[in-house]
Amino acid sequence: MMGHMRPVIICANWKMSTTPAEAGPLARAIADATDVPDVLRVICPPYVALASVGDALVGTAVSVGAQNVHHETRGAYTGEVSAAMLAGLATWSIVGHSERRRDQHESDELIGRKVIRCVEAGLRPMLCVGELLEEREAGRAVDTVAAQLRASLEVVAADGGGVPHDLVVAYEPVWAIGSGRTARGADAAEMADAIRRTIAAITSPRQADAIPVLYGGSVTSASIGEFLDEAAIDGALVGGASLKADEMAAIVARAGITAAARSEVTATA
Ligand code: PEP
Repeated sequence: MMGHMRPVIICANWKMSTTPAEAGPLARAIADATDVPDVLRVICPPYVALASVGDALVGTAVSVGAQNVHHETRGAYTGEVSAAMLAGLATWSIVGHSERRRDQHESDELIGRKVIRCVEAGLRPMLCVGELLEEREAGRAVDTVAAQLRASLEVVAADGGGVPHDLVVAYEPVWAIGSGRTARGADAAEMADAIRRTIAAITSPRQADAIPVLYGGSVTSASIGEFLDEAAIDGALVGGASLKADEMAAIVARAGITAAARSEVTATA
């Protein structure tokens, strides 16, 4: 372990919640309630609320993210949104969320192309990976996640740019998302180590060590500590609880404690 140079990140995924009118005030309430040093905060509202959230966050340090981008740059794709269209509205994008893998049948290869589109458009990609319950129960969780990551990142690396320097990986066990059930901190940390080993094999141990790995899956103010207690975990992707300003305040406050502790370790290392 090379010491903690990685940022602590808390990212809100609002999924298909909030109208534009609701989203702005909620984003502002969250920004005002979470203003602690050294935690990178990101809010990913629905596309239609990106502008109102961006307006509401002017003057704050909270970043705006999209929940998805299309894998092509432009063309006859009715109802879709390209990465370039998000310029000025978002600086991050989630890609490969398990709800899209399930509902839109997104493949690892397609998700790799979305990462490429993010890089081209200057969006910071947050790549989601995670195993199904039956895969964990069969002892195949690490193999499943490593295979997802490898298949997506090999597409990205083959495009010529290598693994993006600003890539963030969110480990989200599918069985933990929206279920009220969380992984154990130790299992999430084991997965984060496996994620970095997989990335190291594609790029270098140095680059892999610098990539933030977040945990996602029913995170609340009550469970965030279990994940941030693990040195391999750098924050959380939060769904349901991210729609409540008081929950976000408590989650980010806990993240601030970890960020302060880790920067102290780095400073004295
Ligand atoms: C998510 O949206 O990625 C997520 C983890 O949702 P929840 O926190 O509601 O499980």
